[in-house]
Amino acid sequence: MRMLLVQTAAMHSYTNQEIVRANLPYAAMIMLGAATIALGYHFSVGSIWGALAYFAYGFGGALWIMAFVCPYCAHFGARTCPCGYGAVAARLVKKGDRECFPQKFKRHIPVIVPLWIIPPALGVAALVRSFNWLLLVLVCLFAVNAFIILPLVSKRDSCGGCPQREICPWTSSTCG
Ligand code: SF4
Repeated sequence: MRMLLVQTAAMHSYTNQEIVRANLPYAAMIMLGAATIALGYHFSVGSIWGALAYFAYGFGGALWIMAFVCPYCAHFGARTCPCGYGAVAARLVKKGDRECFPQKFKRHIPVIVPLWIIPPALGVAALVRSFNWLLLVLVCLFAVNAFIILPLVSKRDSCGGCPQREICPWTSSTCG
């Protein structure tokens, strides 16, 4: 417990600039995903609605994490949360029991996983149906950002100094 308190005190406090920078890969993923859906289906009415729905899902997914995961995190209500969700969450919901973090994380992270799957799945299906270089570039950019840059930024910013490193399912699967 004492070690946990010492670690918590030593955690880095993020500036607004750092928080904005940490959110860029997620924002880029949502915009690239929406663009992939719209372009993949030739900006039809359905594709525009699909892109808007994906955009809303991305925004709602962030709120979902703030409501159902952040309250159980050591960074809740503090500027030590690298992406700023912890501070926003404290304005929306009450603090939860930190011991429940691993269960809450495992239960609620799957809610946002389709955000990583829908655009490449729809983009590849559209490419197979009618090839388009611009769409291929969008799908590749989405994949590099969502599957390489975003996890690297998350891991670099949050896992190293997190006091929940030992009990976090994300840490154990990505940081070893
Ligand atoms: S580190 Fe993650 S779980 Fe913790 S408050 Fe920030 S966004 Fe929420």
